[in-house]
Amino acid sequence: MNLSFGRDYLAIPGPSVSPERVLNAMHTSAPNIYEGALVDMVADMVPDLKAVARTQGHVAIYIANGHGAWEAAAMNLLAPGDMALVLDTGRFAGIWGTVCERLGVKTQLIDFGKKSAVIPERVEAALRADTEHKIKAVLTVQTDTATGVRNDIPLLREAIDAAEHPALLMVDCIASLACDVYEMDAWGVDVTVAASQKGLMTPPGLGFVFLNDKARAAQNPNVSYYWDWAPRIEPERFYQFFGGTAPTHHLLGLRAALDLIAEEGGIEAVWKRHAVLARTAWAAFEAWGQGGPMEINVADPAIRSHAVTALSLGAHDGSRLRRWVQDNGGVTLGIGLGMSAPGDPNGDGFFRLGHMGHINAHMMLGALGVIESGLKALSIPHGDGALSAAAQVIAEA
Ligand SMILES: *Cc1c(COP(=O)(O)O)cnc(C)c1O
Repeated sequence: MNLSFGRDYLAIPGPSVSPERVLNAMHTSAPNIYEGALVDMVADMVPDLKAVARTQGHVAIYIANGHGAWEAAAMNLLAPGDMALVLDTGRFAGIWGTVCERLGVKTQLIDFGKKSAVIPERVEAALRADTEHKIKAVLTVQTDTATGVRNDIPLLREAIDAAEHPALLMVDCIASLACDVYEMDAWGVDVTVAASQKGLMTPPGLGFVFLNDKARAAQNPNVSYYWDWAPRIEPERFYQFFGGTAPTHHLLGLRAALDLIAEEGGIEAVWKRHAVLARTAWAAFEAWGQGGPMEINVADPAIRSHAVTALSLGAHDGSRLRRWVQDNGGVTLGIGLGMSAPGDPNGDGFFRLGHMGHINAHMMLGALGVIESGLKALSIPHGDGALSAAAQVIAEA
């Protein structure tokens, strides 16, 4: 007997579960890329895509994953010798900083550790100290996918404004777009970077750079041919949208994903679902933690991501639990990424639950139920009442 047989649930923080509607839309022979349905569809889709990021600005679409979108955003705005201020709350902003450095950009990194959000006062102080305005851009993430920290972007905007600094604000929303509340224009973000395979529920392969007119005017004139966002924003010919052949099937999948968002009631309904499901998971994790080593990495719920939760669980039990729930329950949890603790240099004590995109109450309660079975089977101490607490959150919502 094997109780993992049946439908798998990939509960990692990207790629997320692709809905059948998305997969079925992609299951077709290659469409005409010169005229007709695909060409018409993309023109109509661009406003819907911008609506997800809550911007009236522009979007450049790349055949790329998040790393490609990082490089696109960096290269369009930052020239060799320019300075970027990188605000790291775990892992991903720091890697974006490395991407910039490899392009010859100088970086100044503020490390906020692995359990804290960006502290606006420190950003303001760093910008005030830059009296010659050498810093061209401030880079950060909305959600750090390794730590589960969610940064307060409006507070960061206030800090930049308080310092009266002209730097552009660039935010990585790869993990958080279509999961956490995000208002690109209202929050004064100049550049937003995203990708298809997390909240947008489409297989990895599309990267997005959203930008406002201020960022557009600040473009680095020496940007490379492929990353140049200018032809992608206002293409004269269809192929210029994509710097070459269109990502035909991914576009069909993305169209279906955007339709699903509209049918759910729009992006605000999607945000609310993610908030409730995140609180459902936290209720269970906190109850288990009452009687054992389980601990949500980020203590304050106000700065926790609604897309992913990182947890610690004794020195090696994070990896043991992951293996058990996969082999016996068909649920794949995320590995601890870049995390370590005393006595656990490899981070085997950590794991992550992805709760982004196409997930609902029964998937969340099912995953939590299998985790509880794993805790019992592995004799990992844990508190009682977790599943009941999780069910209560759903009931009250
Ligand atoms: C997943 C992720 C990335 C990297 O995206 P890839 O598609 O793997 O290149 C970058 N930043 C954040 C916040 C992410 O969650």
